[in-house]
Amino acid sequence: MVNPVYRRIYYIRFPKEISDKPVIYQLIKQYDVEVNILRADILPQREGILILELAGAKPNITDGLNYLKEHGLSIERLATKIRRDDERCFQCGACTGVCPVDALYIRREDMAVLFDADKCTGCSQCVLICPVRAMEMSLGKEWLEPEADRTNAPLFS
Ligand code: SF4
Ligand code: SF4
Repeated sequence: MVNPVYRRIYYIRFPKEISDKPVIYQLIKQYDVEVNILRADILPQREGILILELAGAKPNITDGLNYLKEHGLSIERLATKIRRDDERCFQCGACTGVCPVDALYIRREDMAVLFDADKCTGCSQCVLICPVRAMEMSLGKEWLEPEADRTNAPLFS
């Protein structure tokens, strides 16, 4: 049976010791994972940050992420940083038209706009389109200042 394509976006930090190792190449080659680089801040001998969209069979992606973790990379699903401010949301439904995986959808019975965080890939299309900024992505200052010393800082605020 052919596995359905699993697609998720990940926030990945490289320790400086392996910033020059071809681990992403190995992820593609060994685990047959399609990699789309959405953002990269990597310099030799510096801690680096990547945002990658990975697509492929779910077991391959799981194994590939384990491979990266074994090499010291820290990985977090970007979707865990997407939140909806229910006080701001006025249920206009605009976000449901751009969400590629129906994580935002309309319940026909009462026309309520619902958010299923488990389905969310972290693509942030809803963040861009929401007219009242009810959809938020909470990246910390480590992301905005990738060169900063963040030895003891949490990954995200
Ligand atoms: S676009 Fe914003 S205000 Fe409209 S339903 Fe979505 S989250 Fe709510
Ligand atoms: S970030 Fe927004 S648009 Fe993208 S998958 Fe998640 S809920 Fe849908």
